[in-house]
This record gives sequence, structure tokens and C-alpha cells, in this order.
Amino acid sequence: MALVGLIFNPLSGRGGAEAMSERIVDVLERRGFEVLTGVPGDLPEMRPDHLIVVGGDGTVRWVLEDAHRRWCGAVPDMLVIARGTANLLSHHLGRVTHLAGIPELLQSGHRRDIDVADVNGQLMLLMCGIGFDGAVVHEVVARRKGPITKLSYVMPALRTLLRPPTLEITVHADDRNVFGPAPASVIVANVREYGAGFPLAPDARSDDQLLDVTILPGATRAASVGFTLAAAARRLGRSRAIRLRASRVKVAGVAPVQVDGEAMGNLPVEIGLRPWRARFIVPGS
Ligand SMILES: [Mg+2]
Repeated sequence: MALVGLIFNPLSGRGGAEAMSERIVDVLERRGFEVLTGVPGDLPEMRPDHLIVVGGDGTVRWVLEDAHRRWCGAVPDMLVIARGTANLLSHHLGRVTHLAGIPELLQSGHRRDIDVADVNGQLMLLMCGIGFDGAVVHEVVARRKGPITKLSYVMPALRTLLRPPTLEITVHADDRNVFGPAPASVIVANVREYGAGFPLAPDARSDDQLLDVTILPGATRAASVGFTLAAAARRLGRSRAIRLRASRVKVAGVAPVQVDGEAMGNLPVEIGLRPWRARFIVPGS
């Protein structure tokens, strides 16, 4: 009998994660799976055959780090049931559309290995935003009262536009100075999906053991609006944006930082790839 660890974040999806978890447990137990349920930070002692995470991108990141530590690097295959705000990982992998199909997914669904990056010793799966979008996430966190929605980002983004943060950035990629010191925002991406709904790293691949770096020079309101419009129109290639790939990126200077949509202090950051990959179960396969 296969053992499943199911971790749900009670704060995700306005509390809906717990009710959804109960339905998943029901589906799995009817099909003979044994399920151990817990919240983040409460992984079962015994390593399960599969891991299901019900929550947002932040929950997945947290559980993956914890699972890698708990089971000495032998992380089980993970299935993500999106219950967060942005759910970029689910956009990347595909979304679970009906809970009744979960037993088949666990048994025979397609698997995909995803690079795991690292920012100052913390795990990163999606992207690190330095500068403008770091400032927006810091603003969201500072004003957060309970669960957030995509709308929670609108006012912080406008406020950041009205009072642009002071940004002074130097970027080294694989020990080569590629930018600065000068005002800019930087996105270091593992996947192409981005919270705003348009890609800032449109060519990023999550399995090439490289990080996609997009540098957006300037820190003025006009620069931020200009790049946003260029990215939304899929014309980043024709803007002044600098794009490159590297396996190690160091960014120093003055700017707020976000990792996978969560605030992570200020510069400096060192971003690299960990020597292992995470294996995810791909829905719809
Ligand atoms: Mg890559």
C-alpha cells in the first residue's frame, strides 16, 4: 500500500486548503492509499512514497526545503494542488483539474525534474526579483492582514510607482561584471512564468541548469512603466533590457529583494543552483 504525505497550508486560498485536503484524503483512502496529513513544518517522520502539497508557491518552496532536510535528500515525487495567489508553479507544470484523477497521477502520471536554485542559502524555485518588484512585494507584506488576492498587489504597485525606491545595483554573472553600479531592477528566473501575467524571462527553461537574468536599467517611474508595457506587449527584446544566462549571479548594492513572491530583505544576494533537482508529478499527462 502506497503511503502519501499530504501537506496543506491552512492560510492558503482563504482557508479552502483544509477542506480540499479532506476531499483528497477521501479520494485516496477509497483507493487504498494510506495518507498522513499535516501542515508545513509538520512532515511525517516516515518518508512517504508521494507528497501532495495543497497551497501556494510559498508553501511548495517551504515543504521542498523541509522534505530535503528531513529525508536526507530523498524527496518523494511531489504533486502540487494550487491554492495560493499566483500559483506560478502550477502554471508551469499544469493544473490538477479533478481530484478524482489524483490516484492515477500518483501511480502513473508523467514526472518532470525541475532545477532548484538557491538565494543566500534559501531555496528558490521560481524567481528572485530585485528592485521594483521586490519593493512591491515588501509593500504587500507590510500591509498584509490575512489572506491576499491578486488585487492585493494593485495598490502596492501603484504606491511603488508613485514613490520609486532608491536602486543602485551591480550585477556579476559567473564572476563577470555585466552591469553597474547603476540604477536598475533585476529578475533572476528559473521558470518563464511571472506573477504579473507576462514573462520577464520569456526564454527561461527550468531544466537547463542555468538562471535567466533580465536587467531593466533605470529606476524612474518612466523606466518601470516602459518595461512593464514592453514585457506585456512581448517586446522586451526590443527594449533596453539586458538578458543573459549564467549559473551563478551576484547582485550587490541597494534594493529590496523578493524570492518566489515572498519578501527576503535587501541586497546583496548570491544566486546559484543546487546540485539536485525536484521531481514533480505533471497533471494532465
Ligand atoms: Mg534555467
